[in-house]
Amino acid sequence: MSHYLGSCLCGTVKFEVQGDFEHFYLCHCQHCQKDTGSAHAANLFSQSAKLIWHAGAEAVTSFTLAGTRHNKSFCKLCGSALPDTQAAGLLVVPAGCLDTNLAMAPTAHIFSSSKAAWDRELNQVPEFGGLPE
Ligand SMILES: [Zn+2]
Ligand SMILES: [Zn+2]
Repeated sequence: MSHYLGSCLCGTVKFEVQGDFEHFYLCHCQHCQKDTGSAHAANLFSQSAKLIWHAGAEAVTSFTLAGTRHNKSFCKLCGSALPDTQAAGLLVVPAGCLDTNLAMAPTAHIFSSSKAAWDRELNQVPEFGGLPE
């Protein structure tokens, strides 16, 4: 069984995930673009893993978009995305909030038909190891 540690950007919230993820989706839907402010969400899904809050559970809040199943849990202090358990029997963990290295590669890009206009051939864009010179 795998074991992952994670936290938010300000460090108030700390958690642990015990178990394995079945899917790792990069979701390009418009809800995920708004909610992340980026090209896509990167979420891990598990129907069997267990989530344990180690610190700051009272700082975790969540949002569900009315009329949809789009949920987001986040830290009230810094806004970082955090694990979400609002869908019964399903744990959703944003990959970026993990501190443990994740060996799993993404399963798939999903909702690619909803990609932002600029979300094209991003692997062709110039790359710098740090700030551009
Ligand atoms: Zn925080
Ligand atoms: Zn989405």
